[in-house]
Amino acid sequence: MKIVFATKNFHKLREVNIIKPTWIEISPLPDDIPIAPESGDTFLENAVSKAVFYSKILKSSVVADDSGLVIEALNGFPGVQSSRFMEGENYGRKMKKILMMMEDEENRKAKFVCVAVFADVEKGMILSSIGEVKGKIAQEIRGKGGFGYDPIFIPNGFEKTFGELGEEVKSEISHRKRAFEKLFDIIRKLEI
Ligand code: IMP
Repeated sequence: MKIVFATKNFHKLREVNIIKPTWIEISPLPDDIPIAPESGDTFLENAVSKAVFYSKILKSSVVADDSGLVIEALNGFPGVQSSRFMEGENYGRKMKKILMMMEDEENRKAKFVCVAVFADVEKGMILSSIGEVKGKIAQEIRGKGGFGYDPIFIPNGFEKTFGELGEEVKSEISHRKRAFEKLFDIIRKLEI
């Protein structure tokens, strides 16, 4: 089955290509396509709007995800704002800012959340699935692997950050893996 993955994020595309079962063929968005609006208040709203936006334009089946880092002591921040927070700045600066906000904070609990959505507007179908990985915020930036906030996130059961653990470990336990695994399973069971 052929599905377009509606993302301009090369890292997400790479991760979903590792996660996906062999019966699914993922293709990227064409280069010349407009960027979907992303102004919702929830991961679900943003993921649905991206998937529907591209399914309408491309007239095909599309999957999209919306994801982010949710920090307990910061009341869920940056959450749905994860990519828009300090927009235009690099992730080194964004992570430093987060670490400053967490200075002296004993509760370092955090999680990555991913909502994955399948949309096929012509078939009138929308499916969604959520995945989470729980962990904590490190004391400093560590590792060069992954993307985004990976170098400050330590998943439960590990001492290293996602930035240090590498894609083999991340692709087994990540929020994206958990969300897409469930989504692909639903698609298979429904025989779409
Ligand atoms: P969006 O889903 O494209 O709106 O952006 C999600 C943002 O959340 C990314 O730009 C990252 O800042 C952050 N994020 C989501 N998933 C991950 C991940 O697996 N590792 C690190 N950061 C992530």
